[in-house]
Amino acid sequence: MSDYPSRIESAKLILENGSIKRAATSVYYVQSGRDRDKWYRVEVGPKESCQCKDFAFRVKSGSVDACKHILAIRMAIEDEMSLPLDEEFAKRELPEEPKPPTKEFWEVMEGLKLLTAREAIKI
Ligand SMILES: [Zn+2]
Repeated sequence: MSDYPSRIESAKLILENGSIKRAATSVYYVQSGRDRDKWYRVEVGPKESCQCKDFAFRVKSGSVDACKHILAIRMAIEDEMSLPLDEEFAKRELPEEPKPPTKEFWEVMEGLKLLTAREAIKI
C-alpha cells in the first residue's frame, strides 16, 4: 500500500475543505492542496479538462479516468451539493473587454501602409 492518499480520498478532502468554486455552468476552480494560492481551472461534462499534472499525464494518456479535482467536482454534483456561482471566479471566465488600439498598433499599421506604398512604387 502506498502512503499517498488515493484519488478518491484526495477528492473527499477537497470537498471537505470547500476548495471548489464554481465559475460557470460547467467550469469550476479547485484550490491546489499544496499551494493555497493556486487554483486549477476544471471543466466537467462532455469535455473534461483540468490544468493539473495528473490530468496532463495520466488522464490524457488514458491510464486513469479522472484527476482528484474532476473527481471532487463529480462527487459534489452527485451529492447535489450546492455550488453557487462565485462572483470572483465567474469574472475570470468573462471575455476581456475590447481595448482601443494602442499608439504602437497605429504605428505598425502606418508602417505597413508605407511599405505597401513603397513596394507599389517599385512595381
Ligand atoms: Zn486536476
